[in-house]
Amino acid sequence: MKIYNTLTRQKEEFVPIEEGKVRMYVCGPTVYNYIHIGNARPMIVFDTVRRYFEYKGYEVNYVSNFTDVDDKIIKAAIEEGTDAQTISQRYIAECKKDMEAMNIKPATYNPLATQEIDGMIRMISTLIEKGHAYAAEDGTVYFRTRSFDEYGKLSHKKLDDLQAGHREIKVTGDSTKEDDFDFVLWKPKKEGEPFWKSPWCDGRPGWHIECSVMAKHYLGDEIDIHAGGEDLIFPHHENEIAQSECCNDKTFARYWMHNGFLNIDNKKMSKSLGNFFTVREIGEKYDLQVLRFFMLSAHYRSPLNFSAELMEASKNGLDRILTAVERVKEKAEKAAGEMTAEEQKIIDEEMTALVRKYEEAMEDDFNTADAVSAIFELVKLMNTAVTDETSKAFDRALLEEVERLCDILGIITEKKEELLDADIEALIEKRQAARKAKDFALADQIRDELAAKGILLKDTREGVKWTKA
Ligand code: AMP
Ligand code: ZN
Repeated sequence: MKIYNTLTRQKEEFVPIEEGKVRMYVCGPTVYNYIHIGNARPMIVFDTVRRYFEYKGYEVNYVSNFTDVDDKIIKAAIEEGTDAQTISQRYIAECKKDMEAMNIKPATYNPLATQEIDGMIRMISTLIEKGHAYAAEDGTVYFRTRSFDEYGKLSHKKLDDLQAGHREIKVTGDSTKEDDFDFVLWKPKKEGEPFWKSPWCDGRPGWHIECSVMAKHYLGDEIDIHAGGEDLIFPHHENEIAQSECCNDKTFARYWMHNGFLNIDNKKMSKSLGNFFTVREIGEKYDLQVLRFFMLSAHYRSPLNFSAELMEASKNGLDRILTAVERVKEKAEKAAGEMTAEEQKIIDEEMTALVRKYEEAMEDDFNTADAVSAIFELVKLMNTAVTDETSKAFDRALLEEVERLCDILGIITEKKEELLDADIEALIEKRQAARKAKDFALADQIRDELAAKGILLKDTREGVKWTKA
C-alpha cells in the first residue's frame, strides 16, 4: 500500500510500526459552531483510509480530538452570555450527529483538550527541563524553536529563509519571547477565561501542545499516520513534531497525510471568509451520503470545488449504484440455483479484474476517484450480466461484491426513502386540503405518515410549522 508522505514528498510503501496494527491520529475540529463541509472533508477522507486498512485486516487505533478550549469558543460563550464548556459540549454533540449522518465510524478515542491538561503540564515541564522551552516573567511558556535542529522538515521551510523573506510566523510586539520564532505552550489566563493551575501561572495551553499530548496518551510516542487538512502543515504540525520529538526523543509520526481544500469559487471554504455551508444545511437538501460520495469522487490531495451541479452529478451517480443494487436484490430473492460454469467464468475473470482495479486504486495513495470508477464498471457488469435466467449464486456474488466495495467507501447501498423539504411541504398542503374538505381521517393519516418519518407538525396561528424530530 502506497501513501503520499508530506514529510518526504513521495509516495512510500506503508510499513506499520507494529505488525497488523495502525496507530492513526487525525486533528479534529475546534467546537464553537456547527461544522462546515470543509471540515467534513478530512473526516470523510480519513474515515475511508481507516476503513480500507480494516478491510485489509489491520486493527486501527483511530484517535481524533476535539479542541474544546480556544479563543473562538471563549468569544462565542461571551456573546451568548454562557460559559465555554456549554458551547463546546453543545457543538461536540452536534458534530457527532453530523458524523453519524455521514456514516463516519466513531473514533476509538475522541479525547478533549480540557481533559488532558495534566499530560500537557508534564510535557511542558519535560521540555523546560531539557532546555527546549522556557517560562517568561509573566508566566507564558514558549517553545525554543531554534533548539530543534530539524524544525521545518515537514513544511520544507528553513527558519533563516523565513526570516529573510516571508513573515509568516513573525509576531512583533511580543516582548517576552527570546526569539520571534518561539511559539506558545502555555499562556496566562485573562479575566473571565477558563484556566487551570500550573507551575508557571494560572492559565491554559496553546493549541499545538494539545495534539502532541493526546497522540502520546492514546497512541504512544511513535505513531504510524498523522493526518489533517493541508492548512495544518504549518505551523500546527511542524510545531507538534518539534514538541513531541524534543520531549520523547523518538520520531513522532512516520506518515503525514494532508487533504486538499474544499473550495467555493476556487477559494478555501472557511468560517472566517463566511463562504461556507454547514453539514446540517446540506443535510436538509441531500442525503449526506451524496456529500460523502461527492468528496470521494476526487483524490483527497486535490482541491475540490463545491457546486450545486457537482452535487447533482454525485446524486445521480449514487442513484445509479443504489438502483442497480435494488434490482439485483429483488431478482436474487426470486432466483434459485448454483452457479453455471459460464457464470463462474464471469466472476473469476471480469469481476475479479474490477475488484483488483479497485484495490490497486486504493493502494495507490487512496485514489478513491479511480476506485469509484471501478465500482461503476462493476455496476455496469451487474446490470448486463444479471438477467431473469441467471442463478441465485451468481446474482448474490456480484451483489455482495458491490456492497463490500461501497462499504469500504462508507456508502450504504440500502435505498432510503428520502423526504426532502419540498416533499414535506407538498404533504402538508395535501393535509390542509383534506382538513378543509373535512376529511379528518386522511388529515390524521398524513400527520402520522410524517411523524413516522421523523417530521413533527405543529398547527400555529400563522399556519402549520414543521420540525425534524
Ligand atoms: P478547524 O476547526 O478549522 O481546526 O478545522 C478542522 C479540520 O478541518 C482541519 O483538519 C482542517 O484542516 C480542516 N479544514 C478546514 N477547512 C477546510 C476546507 N475548506 N477544506 C478542507 N479541509 C478543511
Ligand atoms: Zn492537531
